Amino acid sequence: MKRAALVIALVSLAAPLSAQSPAWLEPYRPIAQRIITEAQSNDFTWRRLAELTDTFGNRISGSETLEQAIDWAAATMKADGFENVHKEAVMVPKWVRGAESLELVTPVKQRLVMLGLGNAVGTPAGGIEADVIVVKDFDEMTKRAAEIKGKIVLFNAEFVSYGVTNVYRTAGPSRAAAIGAVATLVRSIGPMGLRTPHTGATVYAADQPKIPAAAIPAEDANRLQRLQDRGVKIRVKLSMEAHFEPDSQSYNVVGEIRGRELPNEVVLMGGHIDSWDVGAGASDDGGGAIVTWDALRLMKKLGLQPRRTVRVVLFTNEENGDKGGEGYRDQHMAELKNHVALLESDGGIFNPEGFGYTGPAAGKATIAAIASLLKSIGADPVRDGGGGSDIGPSGTAASIPMIGHLAAANYFQIHHTPADTIERITPKQAGDNAAAIAVMMYVLADLPWKLGAEK
Ligand SMILES: [Zn+2]
Repeated sequence: MKRAALVIALVSLAAPLSAQSPAWLEPYRPIAQRIITEAQSNDFTWRRLAELTDTFGNRISGSETLEQAIDWAAATMKADGFENVHKEAVMVPKWVRGAESLELVTPVKQRLVMLGLGNAVGTPAGGIEADVIVVKDFDEMTKRAAEIKGKIVLFNAEFVSYGVTNVYRTAGPSRAAAIGAVATLVRSIGPMGLRTPHTGATVYAADQPKIPAAAIPAEDANRLQRLQDRGVKIRVKLSMEAHFEPDSQSYNVVGEIRGRELPNEVVLMGGHIDSWDVGAGASDDGGGAIVTWDALRLMKKLGLQPRRTVRVVLFTNEENGDKGGEGYRDQHMAELKNHVALLESDGGIFNPEGFGYTGPAAGKATIAAIASLLKSIGADPVRDGGGGSDIGPSGTAASIPMIGHLAAANYFQIHHTPADTIERITPKQAGDNAAAIAVMMYVLADLPWKLGAEK
């Protein structure tokens, strides 16, 4: 060993014993390393995600593929040796896309790429043909309100962030309907892709007429914008068979490792097993479902039984109803007070980026200390703000600390698109995320004190 390398090695050996590392953390350091080593020694996590997405494809609420995936998950969790594996029934809405198309009529006849928005109404059988008005934002629509009656409004808002730009998909259709639009097109909510349309739920206002609504790729939105800017009249024909059918029976899937000392206290982790009806739902949210499930499998495989119970829940119907998350809250109301922490993974399983935390301020140092065990895989940052649509109802109802798993690098490029397939995710990313979650939840389940009750 050369002298310089020796110095570096000594420094890195000394680093874990720095002042920031509390004594209680030390027994967990070798356990964290065992978990990471096990996850990185094979591609089990990725292969299980491939099995889910190859076997069942996309999994929208009300579909046979969703229920088949749920049955497979329950049977496979039993085979993994988990305890208390069962399904918990909830009714879910059934939205059906049907056939759909968008055709440019003027200035030329040509098919455009489109994807109807989730929960949208369809068009009359012959479609809707109308002139298009392109606006960049709500302000521009308001300025041009007098022109909108009888037209199709295209919201061509450039992607800023999901939180900011998403409003055109959720609220745009009803705001356009309020001033007389007959249908809405929305530039897909995501960064520029490869002419990829992004679906996702729209939310109709109760006091406005429901008009058909579809997403088009950024490229098609830009084309129509340039045509309008040149003064060219634009006319399109939108056809959509989208509709609701009667609510359908679905289930959350639950599995556990029971705690060795405090089995009634629970740390819960999960993702949602439903997806939109395009792509394979690999990142949204097959990945989140699989890495939380696999976190429990890693504990089981290594013979780790923490003080408290660790529970994995694969939620149903996150995308267009949230009935899984609400159902869990309602069915577990009496025991929510015994839930120590809730973690959700629903933002992709790309390179680990750490955790978001919402809970008692005293708990943040604990979360940060545990996360420091994950520095080698990049999962050590802890930010304020954690949660998710599936754990949100329970976390809010009982003031339970909530943790968001962060690994979102390429997430919004493929979110809700036909391109959401397993090819976007590497085996190392899948394994590292499972390991990160396993370490965080194992230590939270095993701590001598309850998260948030630090002295
Ligand atoms: Zn999701």
